[in-house]
Amino acid sequence: MSEHRPFPLIGPERRELVLRAAVRQGLLDPERAPLAAFLDLDAVTETVAALHAAFPAGSEVRHAFAAKANPLGPVLRLLRGLGMGCEVASPGEFAQALAAGFPPELIVLDSPAKTRGELALALELGVSVNIDNWQELARVDALLADRRSSSRIGVRINPQVGGGRIAAMSTATATSKFGIPLADTGNAARLVEAFRARPWLTELHCHVGSQGIDLDLMATGIATTAAFAERINRELGRRQVTGIDLGGGLPVNFADDRTAPGWDAYLQRLRAHAPVLFDGGYRLTTEFGRSVLAKSGFVASYVEYTKESGGRPIAIGHAGAQVATRTVFAPDSWPIRISAHHPTGAPKHGPLVPQDVAGPCCFAGDLVARARPLPLLAPGDLYCLLDCGAYYPSNHFAYNSLPEPAVHGATTAPDGTVRFETLRPAQSIDDLVARTGA
Ligand SMILES: *Cc1c(COP(=O)(O)O)cnc(C)c1O
Repeated sequence: MSEHRPFPLIGPERRELVLRAAVRQGLLDPERAPLAAFLDLDAVTETVAALHAAFPAGSEVRHAFAAKANPLGPVLRLLRGLGMGCEVASPGEFAQALAAGFPPELIVLDSPAKTRGELALALELGVSVNIDNWQELARVDALLADRRSSSRIGVRINPQVGGGRIAAMSTATATSKFGIPLADTGNAARLVEAFRARPWLTELHCHVGSQGIDLDLMATGIATTAAFAERINRELGRRQVTGIDLGGGLPVNFADDRTAPGWDAYLQRLRAHAPVLFDGGYRLTTEFGRSVLAKSGFVASYVEYTKESGGRPIAIGHAGAQVATRTVFAPDSWPIRISAHHPTGAPKHGPLVPQDVAGPCCFAGDLVARARPLPLLAPGDLYCLLDCGAYYPSNHFAYNSLPEPAVHGATTAPDGTVRFETLRPAQSIDDLVARTGA
Protein backbone atom coordinates (compact mmCIF):
# COMPACT_ATOMS: atom_id res chain seq x y z
CA MET A 1 0.00 0.00 0.00
CA SER A 2 2.36 2.68 1.28
CA GLU A 3 5.05 2.09 -1.38
CA HIS A 4 2.70 3.71 -3.90
CA ARG A 5 2.07 6.69 -1.71
CA PRO A 6 4.28 9.73 -2.12
CA PHE A 7 3.01 11.50 1.02
CA PRO A 8 0.76 10.85 4.05
CA LEU A 9 -2.99 10.55 3.55
CA ILE A 10 -3.70 13.44 5.89
CA GLY A 11 -1.83 16.66 5.20
CA PRO A 12 -1.43 19.62 2.86
CA GLU A 13 -0.14 17.67 -0.18
CA ARG A 14 -3.08 15.33 -0.15
CA ARG A 15 -5.58 18.15 0.28
CA GLU A 16 -3.99 20.04 -2.60
CA LEU A 17 -4.29 16.99 -4.84
CA VAL A 18 -7.98 16.63 -4.02
CA LEU A 19 -8.67 20.36 -4.30
CA ARG A 20 -6.95 20.72 -7.68
CA ALA A 21 -8.83 17.71 -9.02
CA ALA A 22 -12.13 19.12 -7.72
CA VAL A 23 -11.51 22.42 -9.54
CA ARG A 24 -10.50 20.64 -12.76
CA GLN A 25 -13.52 18.37 -12.64
CA GLY A 26 -15.92 21.24 -11.91
CA LEU A 27 -16.96 20.09 -8.44
CA LEU A 28 -15.88 23.53 -7.33
CA ASP A 29 -16.99 26.32 -9.61
CA PRO A 30 -17.37 30.00 -8.77
CA GLU A 31 -20.93 30.05 -10.14
CA ARG A 32 -22.34 26.55 -9.91
CA ALA A 33 -20.59 25.23 -6.81
CA PRO A 34 -18.83 27.94 -4.82
CA LEU A 35 -18.93 25.74 -1.70
CA ALA A 36 -18.40 21.98 -1.33
CA ALA A 37 -17.20 19.50 1.25
CA PHE A 38 -14.74 16.67 0.69
CA LEU A 39 -13.96 13.47 2.54
CA ASP A 40 -10.80 11.57 1.72
CA LEU A 41 -12.06 7.99 1.73
CA ASP A 42 -8.57 6.49 1.63
CA ALA A 43 -7.73 8.35 4.83
CA VAL A 44 -10.98 7.13 6.43
CA THR A 45 -10.15 3.54 5.48
CA GLU A 46 -6.72 3.86 7.00
CA THR A 47 -8.11 5.45 10.16
CA VAL A 48 -10.58 2.61 10.68
CA ALA A 49 -7.83 0.05 10.10
CA ALA A 50 -5.79 1.78 12.82
CA LEU A 51 -8.76 1.60 15.19
CA HIS A 52 -9.15 -2.14 14.63
CA ALA A 53 -5.42 -2.68 15.01
CA ALA A 54 -5.21 -0.73 18.29
CA PHE A 55 -7.26 -3.28 20.24
CA PRO A 56 -5.51 -6.48 21.23
CA ALA A 57 -5.96 -9.35 18.81
CA GLY A 58 -8.54 -11.76 20.16
CA SER A 59 -10.43 -9.21 22.25
CA GLU A 60 -14.12 -9.21 21.45
CA VAL A 61 -14.81 -5.62 20.45
CA ARG A 62 -17.53 -3.98 18.41
CA HIS A 63 -16.70 -0.53 17.08
CA ALA A 64 -20.02 1.29 16.67
CA PHE A 65 -19.53 4.52 14.71
CA ALA A 66 -21.51 7.39 16.29
CA ALA A 67 -23.87 8.24 13.43
CA LYS A 68 -24.37 11.83 14.53
CA ALA A 69 -20.81 12.61 13.43
CA ASN A 70 -21.78 11.97 9.80
CA PRO A 71 -24.97 10.08 8.98
CA LEU A 72 -24.67 10.21 5.18
CA GLY A 73 -25.65 6.86 3.64
CA PRO A 74 -22.49 6.29 1.59
CA VAL A 75 -20.34 7.10 4.64
CA LEU A 76 -22.27 4.67 6.83
CA ARG A 77 -22.06 2.00 4.11
CA LEU A 78 -18.31 2.52 3.78
CA LEU A 79 -17.86 2.16 7.54
CA ARG A 80 -20.07 -0.92 7.59
CA GLY A 81 -17.90 -2.42 4.84
CA LEU A 82 -14.84 -1.68 6.95
CA GLY A 83 -16.27 -3.79 9.76
CA MET A 84 -17.76 -1.10 11.97
CA GLY A 85 -21.14 -1.09 13.71
CA CYS A 86 -23.26 2.00 14.29
CA GLU A 87 -24.33 3.92 17.39
CA VAL A 88 -27.63 5.74 16.92
CA ALA A 89 -29.51 8.17 19.11
CA SER A 90 -32.71 9.16 17.33
CA PRO A 91 -35.38 7.58 15.14
CA GLY A 92 -33.71 9.19 12.12
CA GLU A 93 -30.26 7.79 12.88
CA PHE A 94 -31.81 4.42 13.69
CA ALA A 95 -33.49 4.37 10.26
CA GLN A 96 -30.30 5.57 8.55
CA ALA A 97 -28.29 2.76 10.15
CA LEU A 98 -30.85 0.17 9.05
CA ALA A 99 -30.96 1.65 5.55
CA ALA A 100 -27.16 1.47 5.38
CA GLY A 101 -27.44 -2.26 6.01
CA PHE A 102 -25.88 -2.57 9.46
CA PRO A 103 -26.97 -5.88 10.95
CA PRO A 104 -29.07 -5.29 14.10
CA GLU A 105 -26.47 -6.89 16.35
CA LEU A 106 -24.02 -4.17 15.28
CA ILE A 107 -26.39 -1.29 16.05
CA VAL A 108 -26.46 0.35 19.48
CA LEU A 109 -29.37 2.60 20.47
CA ASP A 110 -28.37 5.29 22.98
CA SER A 111 -30.85 8.17 22.86
CA PRO A 112 -31.79 9.76 26.19
CA ALA A 113 -35.38 10.20 24.96
CA LYS A 114 -36.33 6.88 23.38
CA THR A 115 -40.04 6.48 22.76
CA ARG A 116 -41.85 3.21 23.49
CA GLY A 117 -42.03 2.60 19.76
CA GLU A 118 -38.28 3.00 19.29
CA LEU A 119 -37.57 0.66 22.20
CA ALA A 120 -40.05 -1.91 20.91
CA LEU A 121 -38.47 -1.84 17.44
CA ALA A 122 -34.95 -2.19 18.84
CA LEU A 123 -35.97 -5.12 21.04
CA GLU A 124 -37.81 -6.77 18.19
CA LEU A 125 -34.87 -6.47 15.79
CA GLY A 126 -32.18 -7.40 18.31
CA VAL A 127 -30.54 -3.98 18.31
CA SER A 128 -28.48 -3.26 21.45
CA VAL A 129 -30.09 -0.82 23.86
CA ASN A 130 -28.43 1.26 26.56
CA ILE A 131 -31.08 2.32 29.05
CA ASP A 132 -30.60 5.90 30.19
CA ASN A 133 -32.71 6.20 33.33
CA TRP A 134 -35.01 4.44 35.82
CA GLN A 135 -38.19 5.35 33.94
CA GLU A 136 -36.80 3.90 30.74
CA LEU A 137 -35.91 0.74 32.65
CA ALA A 138 -39.57 0.45 33.69
CA ARG A 139 -40.61 0.84 30.02
CA VAL A 140 -38.28 -1.92 28.96
CA ASP A 141 -39.63 -4.11 31.80
CA ALA A 142 -43.12 -3.59 30.42
CA LEU A 143 -42.05 -4.35 26.85
CA LEU A 144 -40.22 -7.52 27.87
CA ALA A 145 -43.16 -8.77 29.96
CA ASP A 146 -44.75 -10.33 26.89
CA ARG A 147 -41.90 -10.84 24.43
CA ARG A 148 -38.39 -12.15 24.22
CA SER A 149 -35.53 -10.25 22.65
CA SER A 150 -32.04 -11.08 21.46
CA SER A 151 -30.91 -7.49 22.14
CA ARG A 152 -27.90 -6.89 24.33
CA ILE A 153 -29.36 -4.59 26.99
CA GLY A 154 -27.32 -2.36 29.24
CA VAL A 155 -27.63 0.61 31.52
CA ARG A 156 -25.84 3.88 30.92
CA ILE A 157 -24.24 5.08 34.08
CA ASN A 158 -22.83 8.50 34.72
CA PRO A 159 -19.51 7.90 36.45
CA GLN A 160 -19.59 11.56 37.59
CA VAL A 161 -15.88 12.03 37.10
CA GLY A 162 -16.29 15.69 36.11
CA GLY A 163 -16.11 17.79 32.97
CA GLY A 164 -13.55 18.71 30.37
CA ARG A 165 -12.71 21.96 28.62
CA ILE A 166 -16.06 22.32 26.81
CA ALA A 167 -19.03 22.30 29.19
CA ALA A 168 -21.56 21.46 26.46
CA MET A 169 -19.61 18.33 25.55
CA SER A 170 -18.99 17.06 29.09
CA THR A 171 -21.42 14.24 29.83
CA ALA A 172 -20.01 12.97 33.12
CA THR A 173 -20.42 15.98 35.38
CA ALA A 174 -22.24 15.59 38.70
CA THR A 175 -25.49 16.93 37.23
CA SER A 176 -25.27 15.67 33.62
CA LYS A 177 -28.54 14.83 31.89
CA PHE A 178 -27.14 11.48 30.74
CA GLY A 179 -27.31 8.10 32.43
CA ILE A 180 -27.88 7.06 36.03
CA PRO A 181 -25.57 9.03 38.30
CA LEU A 182 -23.61 6.35 40.07
CA ALA A 183 -22.44 8.32 43.08
CA ASP A 184 -25.85 9.79 43.97
CA THR A 185 -27.15 8.38 47.22
CA GLY A 186 -28.58 4.92 46.88
CA ASN A 187 -28.07 4.52 43.13
CA ALA A 188 -25.24 1.99 43.18
CA ALA A 189 -27.09 -0.37 45.53
CA ARG A 190 -30.34 0.14 43.62
CA LEU A 191 -28.57 -0.73 40.34
CA VAL A 192 -27.13 -3.92 41.80
CA GLU A 193 -30.67 -4.96 42.80
CA ALA A 194 -31.99 -3.95 39.36
CA PHE A 195 -29.47 -6.30 37.74
CA ARG A 196 -30.26 -9.06 40.27
CA ALA A 197 -33.94 -8.90 39.36
CA ARG A 198 -33.32 -8.79 35.59
CA PRO A 199 -31.01 -11.46 34.20
CA TRP A 200 -31.42 -9.82 30.76
CA LEU A 201 -29.48 -6.74 31.91
CA THR A 202 -25.98 -7.72 30.86
CA GLU A 203 -24.09 -4.56 29.99
CA LEU A 204 -22.92 -1.25 31.40
CA HIS A 205 -22.38 1.83 29.27
CA CYS A 206 -20.64 5.15 29.80
CA HIS A 207 -19.65 8.03 27.54
CA VAL A 208 -17.61 10.57 29.44
CA GLY A 209 -17.76 13.29 26.80
CA SER A 210 -16.81 14.48 23.36
CA GLN A 211 -13.86 16.79 22.58
CA GLY A 212 -12.10 18.69 25.32
CA ILE A 213 -11.97 15.62 27.57
CA ASP A 214 -8.51 14.45 28.53
CA LEU A 215 -7.66 10.82 28.08
CA ASP A 216 -7.07 10.32 31.80
CA LEU A 217 -10.50 11.67 32.70
CA MET A 218 -12.08 9.47 30.03
CA ALA A 219 -10.18 6.41 31.22
CA THR A 220 -11.13 7.20 34.83
CA GLY A 221 -14.82 7.22 33.88
CA ILE A 222 -14.45 3.94 32.04
CA ALA A 223 -12.51 2.44 34.95
CA THR A 224 -15.32 3.47 37.33
CA THR A 225 -17.76 1.70 35.02
CA ALA A 226 -15.62 -1.43 34.82
CA ALA A 227 -15.20 -1.50 38.60
CA PHE A 228 -18.96 -1.27 38.98
CA ALA A 229 -19.42 -4.18 36.55
CA GLU A 230 -17.07 -6.21 38.74
CA ARG A 231 -19.04 -5.19 41.83
CA ILE A 232 -22.35 -6.28 40.31
CA ASN A 233 -20.91 -9.64 39.30
CA ARG A 234 -19.34 -10.12 42.73
CA GLU A 235 -22.50 -9.21 44.65
CA LEU A 236 -24.66 -11.38 42.41
CA GLY A 237 -22.23 -14.27 42.65
CA ARG A 238 -22.44 -14.77 38.87
CA ARG A 239 -20.97 -13.12 35.79
CA GLN A 240 -24.11 -11.38 34.66
CA VAL A 241 -22.45 -8.25 33.29
CA THR A 242 -20.66 -9.53 30.21
CA GLY A 243 -20.38 -6.37 28.15
CA ILE A 244 -19.01 -2.88 28.69
CA ASP A 245 -19.67 -0.05 26.26
CA LEU A 246 -16.84 2.46 26.59
CA GLY A 247 -18.55 5.25 24.64
CA GLY A 248 -16.69 7.50 22.21
CA GLY A 249 -15.12 10.88 22.66
CA LEU A 250 -11.52 10.49 21.57
CA PRO A 251 -10.64 14.15 21.01
CA VAL A 252 -9.56 15.51 17.64
CA ASN A 253 -6.50 17.71 17.21
CA PHE A 254 -7.69 20.84 15.43
CA ALA A 255 -4.30 22.58 15.77
CA ASP A 256 -2.22 20.86 13.08
CA ASP A 257 -2.13 17.79 10.84
CA ARG A 258 -1.10 15.27 13.48
CA THR A 259 -3.66 12.64 14.44
CA ALA A 260 -3.16 13.01 18.15
CA PRO A 261 -3.95 11.52 20.50
CA GLY A 262 -4.28 8.32 18.53
CA TRP A 263 -6.02 5.13 19.54
CA ASP A 264 -2.76 3.69 20.79
CA ALA A 265 -2.53 6.44 23.42
CA TYR A 266 -6.17 5.83 24.35
CA LEU A 267 -5.57 2.11 24.80
CA GLN A 268 -2.49 2.73 26.83
CA ARG A 269 -4.55 4.83 29.29
CA LEU A 270 -7.29 2.23 29.38
CA ARG A 271 -4.81 -0.49 30.20
CA ALA A 272 -3.36 1.66 32.97
CA HIS A 273 -6.72 2.62 34.50
CA ALA A 274 -8.88 -0.43 33.77
CA PRO A 275 -6.78 -3.53 33.08
CA VAL A 276 -9.82 -5.70 33.81
CA LEU A 277 -11.19 -4.72 30.38
CA PHE A 278 -8.47 -6.78 28.74
CA ASP A 279 -8.66 -9.99 30.75
CA GLY A 280 -11.19 -11.50 28.34
CA GLY A 281 -14.19 -11.35 30.68
CA TYR A 282 -16.06 -8.63 28.81
CA ARG A 283 -17.29 -7.99 25.31
CA LEU A 284 -16.38 -4.40 24.54
CA THR A 285 -18.18 -1.78 22.46
CA THR A 286 -16.78 1.58 21.40
CA GLU A 287 -18.74 4.53 19.99
CA PHE A 288 -16.23 6.79 18.29
CA GLY A 289 -17.52 9.52 15.99
CA ARG A 290 -15.29 12.53 15.39
CA SER A 291 -12.01 10.65 15.68
CA VAL A 292 -13.03 8.34 12.81
CA LEU A 293 -13.62 11.12 10.27
CA ALA A 294 -12.57 14.60 11.33
CA LYS A 295 -9.03 14.67 9.97
CA SER A 296 -10.10 13.21 6.62
CA GLY A 297 -12.50 15.97 5.62
CA PHE A 298 -12.40 19.61 4.60
CA VAL A 299 -14.79 22.26 3.33
CA ALA A 300 -13.73 24.43 0.39
CA SER A 301 -15.16 27.78 -0.66
CA TYR A 302 -14.36 30.53 -3.12
CA VAL A 303 -13.78 34.03 -1.83
CA GLU A 304 -16.57 36.12 -3.29
CA TYR A 305 -15.47 39.57 -2.14
CA THR A 306 -12.90 41.21 0.07
CA LYS A 307 -13.07 44.48 1.94
CA GLU A 308 -11.48 46.36 4.77
CA SER A 309 -13.51 47.45 7.76
CA GLY A 310 -12.09 49.48 10.65
CA GLY A 311 -8.67 48.72 9.21
CA ARG A 312 -9.22 44.95 9.20
CA PRO A 313 -9.20 42.94 5.98
CA ILE A 314 -12.22 40.69 5.59
CA ALA A 315 -12.67 37.89 3.06
CA ILE A 316 -16.29 37.00 2.45
CA GLY A 317 -16.99 33.51 1.18
CA HIS A 318 -19.66 30.84 1.26
CA ALA A 319 -18.64 28.72 4.25
CA GLY A 320 -20.26 30.13 7.36
CA ALA A 321 -22.57 29.09 10.14
CA GLN A 322 -24.50 26.70 7.87
CA VAL A 323 -21.50 24.33 7.66
CA ALA A 324 -19.47 25.39 10.71
CA THR A 325 -22.20 26.05 13.22
CA ARG A 326 -20.29 25.30 16.39
CA THR A 327 -17.23 27.22 15.23
CA VAL A 328 -19.30 30.29 14.47
CA PHE A 329 -21.38 30.24 17.66
CA ALA A 330 -18.67 29.04 20.04
CA PRO A 331 -15.41 30.08 18.39
CA ASP A 332 -13.30 29.69 21.52
CA SER A 333 -14.30 26.05 21.95
CA TRP A 334 -14.24 25.12 18.25
CA PRO A 335 -11.46 26.98 16.42
CA ILE A 336 -10.65 25.52 13.01
CA ARG A 337 -7.67 25.85 10.75
CA ILE A 338 -7.99 27.55 7.39
CA SER A 339 -5.75 27.14 4.37
CA ALA A 340 -5.49 29.69 1.54
CA HIS A 341 -5.31 28.69 -2.12
CA HIS A 342 -5.15 30.16 -5.59
CA PRO A 343 -8.17 29.58 -7.84
CA THR A 344 -6.45 26.44 -9.19
CA GLY A 345 -6.18 24.94 -5.71
CA ALA A 346 -2.44 25.62 -5.47
CA PRO A 347 -1.43 26.82 -2.01
CA LYS A 348 -1.17 30.56 -1.61
CA HIS A 349 2.04 31.87 -0.12
CA GLY A 350 3.06 35.35 0.94
CA PRO A 351 3.14 37.49 4.05
CA LEU A 352 0.62 36.53 6.72
CA VAL A 353 -1.96 39.23 7.20
CA PRO A 354 -4.48 39.09 10.05
CA GLN A 355 -7.90 38.92 8.40
CA ASP A 356 -11.43 37.84 9.16
CA VAL A 357 -12.91 35.04 7.12
CA ALA A 358 -16.64 35.58 6.94
CA GLY A 359 -19.52 33.40 5.82
CA PRO A 360 -22.63 34.37 3.85
CA CYS A 361 -25.12 34.52 6.74
CA CYS A 362 -26.82 37.75 7.66
CA PHE A 363 -25.54 38.16 11.18
CA ALA A 364 -22.35 39.87 12.23
CA GLY A 365 -20.94 36.88 14.09
CA ASP A 366 -20.84 34.68 10.99
CA LEU A 367 -17.05 34.46 10.97
CA VAL A 368 -15.11 31.22 10.72
CA ALA A 369 -11.93 33.05 11.72
CA ARG A 370 -11.18 36.40 13.31
CA ALA A 371 -7.92 38.27 12.71
CA ARG A 372 -6.41 35.05 11.41
CA PRO A 373 -2.90 35.42 9.95
CA LEU A 374 -3.19 34.10 6.38
CA PRO A 375 -1.79 35.08 2.98
CA LEU A 376 -4.08 37.91 1.94
CA LEU A 377 -7.13 36.38 0.27
CA ALA A 378 -8.43 37.92 -2.96
CA PRO A 379 -11.73 37.51 -4.81
CA GLY A 380 -11.69 34.22 -6.72
CA ASP A 381 -9.25 32.52 -4.35
CA LEU A 382 -10.20 29.33 -2.58
CA TYR A 383 -9.92 28.62 1.11
CA CYS A 384 -10.45 25.42 3.07
CA LEU A 385 -11.76 24.78 6.56
CA LEU A 386 -9.69 21.86 7.77
CA ASP A 387 -10.45 18.82 9.95
CA CYS A 388 -14.14 19.09 9.06
CA GLY A 389 -14.91 15.45 8.23
CA ALA A 390 -17.08 14.94 11.29
CA TYR A 391 -20.08 16.99 12.43
CA TYR A 392 -19.42 19.95 10.10
CA PRO A 393 -21.10 19.77 6.67
CA SER A 394 -23.15 16.70 7.57
CA ASN A 395 -24.98 18.67 10.26
CA HIS A 396 -26.34 21.47 8.20
CA PHE A 397 -27.85 24.58 9.80
CA ALA A 398 -30.44 26.02 7.44
CA TYR A 399 -30.01 29.72 8.32
CA ASN A 400 -30.91 32.21 5.55
CA SER A 401 -32.27 29.26 3.55
CA LEU A 402 -28.74 28.33 2.58
CA PRO A 403 -28.81 24.99 0.77
CA GLU A 404 -26.85 21.96 1.91
CA PRO A 405 -23.60 21.87 -0.05
CA ALA A 406 -22.48 18.73 -1.85
CA VAL A 407 -20.24 16.32 0.04
CA HIS A 408 -17.81 14.47 -2.22
CA GLY A 409 -15.81 11.38 -1.36
CA ALA A 410 -12.32 11.20 -2.88
CA THR A 411 -10.15 8.19 -3.59
CA THR A 412 -6.75 8.44 -5.19
CA ALA A 413 -5.14 5.91 -7.50
CA PRO A 414 -1.42 5.13 -7.13
CA ASP A 415 -0.70 7.40 -10.13
CA GLY A 416 -2.31 10.35 -8.33
CA THR A 417 -5.60 10.33 -10.25
CA VAL A 418 -8.39 11.43 -7.94
CA ARG A 419 -11.81 9.86 -8.40
CA PHE A 420 -14.84 11.43 -6.76
CA GLU A 421 -18.13 9.96 -5.70
CA THR A 422 -21.12 11.88 -4.44
CA LEU A 423 -21.72 11.30 -0.74
CA ARG A 424 -24.50 13.88 -0.76
CA PRO A 425 -25.60 15.96 -3.74
CA ALA A 426 -25.88 19.70 -3.26
CA GLN A 427 -29.39 20.71 -2.38
CA SER A 428 -30.94 22.59 -5.29
CA ILE A 429 -32.70 25.88 -4.77
CA ASP A 430 -35.84 24.30 -6.26
CA ASP A 431 -35.72 21.54 -3.66
CA LEU A 432 -35.21 24.08 -0.93
CA VAL A 433 -38.21 26.09 -2.08
CA ALA A 434 -40.33 22.95 -2.33
CA ARG A 435 -39.35 21.77 1.17
CA THR A 436 -40.30 25.06 2.69
CA GLY A 437 -43.82 24.77 1.38
CA ALA A 438 -43.94 26.44 -1.98
C1 LIG B 1 -21.75 11.83 20.64
C2 LIG B 1 -21.62 10.49 21.26
C3 LIG B 1 -20.59 9.65 20.86
C4 LIG B 1 -19.52 10.05 19.87
O1 LIG B 1 -18.70 11.06 20.37
P1 LIG B 1 -17.41 11.50 19.54
O2 LIG B 1 -16.83 12.59 20.34
O3 LIG B 1 -17.84 11.93 18.20
O4 LIG B 1 -16.50 10.29 19.47
C5 LIG B 1 -20.57 8.37 21.37
N1 LIG B 1 -21.50 7.95 22.28
C6 LIG B 1 -22.49 8.75 22.71
C7 LIG B 1 -23.47 8.24 23.67
C8 LIG B 1 -22.58 10.04 22.22
O5 LIG B 1 -23.54 10.86 22.66
